[in-house]
Amino acid sequence: MEIDKEKCVGCGNCHAVCTMGVIYLDEDGKSVVNQEECVECRTCYRVLRNEGYRPWFVRAVRKILGVFRLGYLAEPDVCPTGALTPPPLQWPRSIRATFSDPSTVHEGTGVHGRGTDEIKSNEVTGRLREGDVGFVVELGRPGIGARFRDIQKVSMALAQAQVQFEPENPVTQLMTDTKTGRIREDVLDEKVLSAIIELKTRMENIGQVLRVLEEVQHQVDTVISVGIASKCAADGSVVHESLVRQAGYKLSPNGKTNLGLGRPLFQER
Ligand code: SF4
Ligand code: SF4
Repeated sequence: MEIDKEKCVGCGNCHAVCTMGVIYLDEDGKSVVNQEECVECRTCYRVLRNEGYRPWFVRAVRKILGVFRLGYLAEPDVCPTGALTPPPLQWPRSIRATFSDPSTVHEGTGVHGRGTDEIKSNEVTGRLREGDVGFVVELGRPGIGARFRDIQKVSMALAQAQVQFEPENPVTQLMTDTKTGRIREDVLDEKVLSAIIELKTRMENIGQVLRVLEEVQHQVDTVISVGIASKCAADGSVVHESLVRQAGYKLSPNGKTNLGLGRPLFQER
């Protein structure tokens, strides 16, 4: 995101809504975006209404009010002068918006936001069959984000634990080699709000995958959250639950109810 300094009147409204806290007041009293840390989520641009006032008008009103020791405060949900300016993004910077702006669709998956259906559609896709377990490993959160260099550290560590990365996932699609988990060089310095690595492995491998994540979390400059999924047994029990507990972790059960409107695209083995 860029801020047009000719238009900005330094009201500070955009500072409060920035998901990464990377807009600050410059020495000239106008706002500026730290381009290294901005993830191009466009939240500031989408959330603040453009009042479209001429900057000279706002400054004049402020000056006049100042004479009477009164202040001019713009409503908190506006950029009074429309100074926020989304720039045209070239590759590789455009990857920031693809992962961070929920109104953008991932080219490779056709899905908005982080670009993944995750495990929600398993009854239709059959990604996970009996004996399989799926992991969603999310890196980054508002306020911290994640760089692809760190995402690669995690994917390369996971690749050594006999996992299969989900091909219909936007992080997998950035890998140059799914056997090693290596991600293409030109995006490694790019930062996104968050990204999800999706993989599947066999049920007996749960402990190893969790150990890898436990170790690699100390090598990355972001936060990691992990989700684990498998098909319920015929009696409704969660098959992976005991294996996760044996590995020393607690689960926070989280269910999704399918309405049965989807037709399975697979046949059970
Ligand atoms: S909301 Fe608009 S005018 Fe106010 S500081 Fe931000 S860019 Fe400048
Ligand atoms: S695009 Fe997102 S990260 Fe960048 S300045 Fe706006 S809110 Fe902050």
